[in-house]
Amino acid sequence: MNVLVINAGSSSLKYQLVNVETQEVLAKGICERVGSAEAFHKHGIDDNELVIDEPMEDHNAAMAVVLEALTSGPNKAIDSLDDIDAIGHRVVQGGKYFDRSVVIDDDVIAKIDELAELAPLHNKAALMGIEACRTQMPGKPMVAVFDTSFFQSIPPKAYMYPLPYELYEKYAIRKYGAHGTSHRYISERAAAFMDEPIEDLKLITCHLGNGCSISAIDHGVAVDTSMGLTPLDGLMMGTRCGAIDPAIVPFIMEKEGLSTQEVNDLMNRKSGLLGISGISNDLRSVKEASEAGDERAQLAYEMYSNSAKKYIGQYIAVMGGVDAIVLTAGVGENCEKMRRMIFAGLQPLGIKIDPEKNKLRGHEREISTDDSAVRIVVIPTNEEYMIARDTYQLVKEGSLEVSELA
Ligand code: ADP
Repeated sequence: MNVLVINAGSSSLKYQLVNVETQEVLAKGICERVGSAEAFHKHGIDDNELVIDEPMEDHNAAMAVVLEALTSGPNKAIDSLDDIDAIGHRVVQGGKYFDRSVVIDDDVIAKIDELAELAPLHNKAALMGIEACRTQMPGKPMVAVFDTSFFQSIPPKAYMYPLPYELYEKYAIRKYGAHGTSHRYISERAAAFMDEPIEDLKLITCHLGNGCSISAIDHGVAVDTSMGLTPLDGLMMGTRCGAIDPAIVPFIMEKEGLSTQEVNDLMNRKSGLLGISGISNDLRSVKEASEAGDERAQLAYEMYSNSAKKYIGQYIAVMGGVDAIVLTAGVGENCEKMRRMIFAGLQPLGIKIDPEKNKLRGHEREISTDDSAVRIVVIPTNEEYMIARDTYQLVKEGSLEVSELA
């Protein structure tokens, strides 16, 4: 069964065509700057990638361009749209309505729209992707996979903020988390890799890339995560500040004369590794500069590792122990030095990284010492496969499961 996985952003449309049975990626690509004169389309796998300037006035036009590239031209992957069996959409905010993936119908669309208040850019973009697919491929089964649904199991003591309770009642202000598809995937894969049932494990999963989040997964159930109402909370990231003293926000607004939008922009786009180093949001550039003696780059690097270390400590306390710590995403999968710094000094907690195994590259692997009480494993994430697999299961079973958690 071939599933077209769609990840629609406000001005982009990312896609992958996945054969779920073989796990083969048949095609992938992205349309960027949709809606502007500079729109372009990248299509193909690795060395076969083509970059084409294409006018795309909206997501519907972008979807037409994608379907054309999938079915014709030098990088065609399938003969006709009949070879697409179903479509899986990534949706950022599922709020309290969705604790799992669901088949899309009018009611689901209405709820995604209602939840746009909590993630305005993201949910509206997902709706544009859904609408474009409906127009271009009417009747094709579609599934929504939410970034937040895996975290609906988090208990109120962890998802509530200690603000006046009416704010929760009025605006649904609470922790929802993000990156849930990635945490779900790597926790399942880590258990399989270690050959242990996930129901027997206490896991801490670390998605460390440009965006960063860490979750506590107790016997297969998420019990806490670092991202909050929005993906700004938690760890220090590439350009996001993560958790800071909330009193800083009104303070800098007043001192710098910033509007709410400007202060939001400062915390989301100008902070994190970029804000501290003044050099880049990309950890590789920060690392190079720090090794060349740049003090602010060195500070940024240390802050990033310290931020991850603190969440790991919190979640060991939350679960009363941990069996394995799982790492993924650009930094977690690739950066030997950052991994070493995160785990430095944790030997008293039974966490010992093996310097030689830490150097190894490759697919799923263990990097802790043989005598480490806590195993450390690296699992490359694969959110697209997870979306394709959910879509496959729901469409094949033909069931619609909407869970309303009060
Ligand atoms: P996103 O959150 O945008 O999906 P990624 O998971 O692609 O991000 O991670 C991007 C980050 O991973 C960047 O900061 C990049 O510098 C870092 N990264 C990728 N490869 C390496 C590497 N070999 N060493 C250090 N950092 C790396």
